[in-house]
Amino acid sequence: MKKRESFELLGTEIKPGKGARVTLEVAKLHTNTPIQIPVIVQHAKKKGPTLLLLAGLHGDEVNGTEVVRRMIKKGWHKPNYGTVICIPVFNIFGFLNLSREFPDGRDLNRSFPGTKNGSLASQFAYIFMKEIAPLADVVIDFHTGAAQRNNYPQTRCDFRDEETRALCDVFASTFTIDSKLIPKSIRHAVTKIGKKYILFEGGKSNRIDNFIVDEALEGTKRVMTELGIRYFEVEPPKQPSIVITSSRWIRASSSGVLNLRIKNGQKVVKGTILATIADPYGKFERSVKAPFDGYVFNVNETPLVNKGDALFHLGR
Ligand SMILES: [Zn+2]
Repeated sequence: MKKRESFELLGTEIKPGKGARVTLEVAKLHTNTPIQIPVIVQHAKKKGPTLLLLAGLHGDEVNGTEVVRRMIKKGWHKPNYGTVICIPVFNIFGFLNLSREFPDGRDLNRSFPGTKNGSLASQFAYIFMKEIAPLADVVIDFHTGAAQRNNYPQTRCDFRDEETRALCDVFASTFTIDSKLIPKSIRHAVTKIGKKYILFEGGKSNRIDNFIVDEALEGTKRVMTELGIRYFEVEPPKQPSIVITSSRWIRASSSGVLNLRIKNGQKVVKGTILATIADPYGKFERSVKAPFDGYVFNVNETPLVNKGDALFHLGR
């Protein structure tokens, strides 16, 4: 029998049955401090697919980082077949000061596939696409809502991609949402080179939410079991995932103090009062109503809103 080959990542050889922590070097800070992104890899003795667990693409989305950290801490990232690569903090620039963006203000998730001599975010994207993305068969990328917008646990994929859709069904998050690929996003770039990409969204920025972490861990274990990477005895989901094929942001019709009347994840009917918006001086109070029957899968938890702000993401 042919001996199982080593796995090579960023110039480091990982022997079958072994793991390593390697670093992805991207650039230096203006302090001349090198920026090193730790990449944790485990390579099984037996052949199988390569799974990449990615978090912290937006530096303030710490909940995803906690998901990948827990996978490593529990040893669940150790495969029986194939290889698992973990990057708990991808945008380490943003993580340093808990900001979504890169130091130059750019959104890394609009900088793919990147160029060798582009902006810092573009260089970063380029190195990832060159050194890491080609090694993976399946990627699970953990995100949260931006700012105070809280996502109920959900996976997103383009439903026309049947294989990825099937993996999202296996993940079995509360919601599965049809979402077209956004140009220049990491999902777009990685999908274009033939990889399966599960985008998980749950919680909000700058917060660890154990309910979300647990759902993400259960889903990840289900996907690892399905791919044959490692068998986990995971309880089946309490209810089948709710499939969302169309959605709309409900926006604030006036500026004021926001008072939520519903819970995230809740089913609502047309006319349900989702929130009230009032002025702070007791003069007016207006209701924000659901324009159609559906499920609320994102709630803006900010107390103060401006007219036009996105308040609820409602899907059907
Ligand atoms: Zn994000």
